[in-house]
Formats: sequence, C-alpha cells, structure tokens
Amino acid sequence: MSGKRFSKSFTQQEPVSGEAITRAVEILQTGRLHRYNTIEGEVAEAALLEREYAGWQGASYCLACTSGGYALQVALRSCGLVPGDMVLTNAYTLAPVPGAIHGAGGKPLFVETGDDWKIDLNDLAEKAEQSDARFLLLSHMRGHIADMDRILDICGQNRITLIEDCAHTMGARWKGTRSGNFGKVACFSSQTYKHMNSGEGGLLTTDDEEVAARAIVHSGSYMLYQRHGAAPSEEVFRKVRLETPNMSGRMDNLRAALLRYQIRDLDSNITRWNERYRVLEQGLRMSKELLVPERPRHEAFVGSSIQFQVPNASAERMQALVTQCAREGVEIKWFGEAEPKAFTSRYDSWQYVEEQQHLPKTDAVLARTCDLRVPLTFDLDDCRLVAEIICEKTAQTGRVD
Ligand SMILES: *Cc1c(COP(=O)(O)O)cnc(C)c1O
Repeated sequence: MSGKRFSKSFTQQEPVSGEAITRAVEILQTGRLHRYNTIEGEVAEAALLEREYAGWQGASYCLACTSGGYALQVALRSCGLVPGDMVLTNAYTLAPVPGAIHGAGGKPLFVETGDDWKIDLNDLAEKAEQSDARFLLLSHMRGHIADMDRILDICGQNRITLIEDCAHTMGARWKGTRSGNFGKVACFSSQTYKHMNSGEGGLLTTDDEEVAARAIVHSGSYMLYQRHGAAPSEEVFRKVRLETPNMSGRMDNLRAALLRYQIRDLDSNITRWNERYRVLEQGLRMSKELLVPERPRHEAFVGSSIQFQVPNASAERMQALVTQCAREGVEIKWFGEAEPKAFTSRYDSWQYVEEQQHLPKTDAVLARTCDLRVPLTFDLDDCRLVAEIICEKTAQTGRVD
C-alpha cells in the first residue's frame, strides 16, 4: 500500500465568474427574468445569448431552451418526426437521448458501438438500409466523433436526416468543421457537467430556416418570435406558426446571463481540459494493462472526460478496480455494471423501448470501459495522482484476477 489518496470531487465545477454574477444580480434587480418581459428598446439576455452562440458556432439560427434533452426532442419534431417513426441512434449514449426520441413519439433503433466508442459504421449502414428510419440522432458520446464523411454518405444514400447530439462536443472539430455543423440540427446542453454551466439549459442550432422557426414556436414563443436573437424572418414563421404546438421550454434571462460570459471562456477552457486530458492519458499509459486509444489527429476534441479499457478483464476484476479506486477517492464510471447507477445507464436498461435489442459488440466494449470526468477544478498534479492511483489499483486487482 502506498497510501496515496485523492481528495477532490469529480463533480465539482469551477465557480461562476464575478462578471457573470454581477450581470445576474442586475437582472434579478430588474425582476424581468422571463425572456419576453422586456421594456422599450431592451433586448432580452436570452436573445443576446442566441445571437452570440450562433456566431460562435457558425450557425445561422439558434434557440436557447431549458435542457439538452428538450433541444433534442424539439429538433426531432421540427425535422418532421411523426409518432411511430424509427430513429437510429447510438447504443452507447446517455439516457436523455432515447428519452427524447420516446418523448417525441419516435422509436429508438440502436446502433452498435466500436472499440473506440464511436457508432459502428457498418452496423449503421446496414440498419439505415434495412429499416424505415428517416432520422439519425447521432451522439458524439464522450467527445468521440465518428467518420463524418461516411455518416453523411450513409444518411444521404438513405434519405436520413442527421441530428447531432453535441452534449460532449461543444467546441470540438472534425477535420476543421465544428461538431454540430454537419447535420440539419445540433443540440447542446449547458447542464452543470457539460462545457458551459447554467445548472440546466440547452441550445439548438441550425441553418434551416423552417426547422429554426418550428423549434422556436415549439419552445413556447407566444407569437413573440421576433424577440429571438438568431431567428428567421417573419415570413418563415407565418408558414409554421399555427401548425406548431407550444411545448414550453424557454430559457430565462438569468441562465442566459451566466452562459453569455462562458462563451468567452470556452476556447481557453478547452485548452485547459486538454492539458488535463494529456496528463491523464500519459499517466494511465504507464500501466501496460490499460488501453487509452490514440485520438485521431483530425479530431480536435475537448478532453472533459477520459475513457480507457482494461482489455480482457473479468467483470469481477472491473468491479474490484472501481471499488478500490473509489476507496482512494477516485471515482470511475464503469458502463459494464449490471444495474444502472448515477450516469452509467446502458441501452438495455431503457426498458420502455418496445423492441428490446441485443447488441453484443456494445456489450463487449462497455464491459471493459472505464470513464472519468475531468473537472477544471483539478490541476495537473491532481491528474497525475488520479492516474497513479488507477495504475496501482490495476496492478493490485491483476494479481487476484
Ligand atoms: C447531458 C447529455 C444530454 C442532454 O442533457 P440534459 O441534461 O437534458 O441537458 C444529451 N446527450 C448526452 C450524451 C448527454 O451527456
């Protein structure tokens, strides 16, 4: 026993900046928290956020809403999903993704997962051809971006609309293009554990004017859609406004204020995440038993979490590793766990999905996958220590496997 122990929390984010707090207090003092509650000449904070985020993302239109999951649901509806439609999606993703499909009336059709945690392109091509699915809700799960050229080909050949779930790739790029700018719509989350933190929140971006108009009306615009910051023209709204139900999910001005200040810090935060990621990656590779796959050079990722595999480890050993690391303060998520715990839910735990699907490749990958959050409250020494503890526990559990 070396007696190394880690004492920081894996769920502690950095504080909100002083500037954002000042702005939030100003808004509280006006009492005008609702985005449509503006006075003469005033542009609501939520509208300013939409304008600034659209600019940052490089999209024509942006809707700020209540959560990433809500954005996904609205994106599916705005792209024309009707109840009963099949939606292709990653088997390795988080619960809000199949939940959004279900909420919009669709049926998830899960696609297998490769060793690199990306969607399995052969299985995708096969299911795209053999099913009636008209949508692919693609999760860039844990920041791993699949071959987007092939994905666009598969979607194009099968007339499938691509919607990107960028909850883990806000700010990432693939061959120079920002994640979210490949599909018809992209959805982002500003829930506390993502790349910007407003507690809860979602952003939807698109270049399609009708999709944008429908999304805005869905979000509950009370015909006040002109007060949005990155919206299409009145004409477009006239086409859709009476046939698009209000499903209230607006963003408020307080959260918008917090996010506006964070857009400015995104690029420097991405650099900080990646510095931490590289230290962890290097540290974990000190153990010959751990596999941390190379990130492709054309993928400019955001290292806000790190995944690694313990190839050939038994379930008992994986469980022991998780337990022993937890004892030393290192919180590993293991997606192979039989029972869903905290954020580790697996496709077979979403039992509301009508047709239960069996995905052996996904099962095999997840059974040996470990996942760590990388909060910016960790410094580089913290990352070194975390990796050392994991390597040490890997060696110890190896002796009894
Ligand atoms: C967080 C997350 C979402 C959306 O989450 P909300 O909590 O609804 O904002 C969607 N997809 C993935 C993969 C996520 O991790």
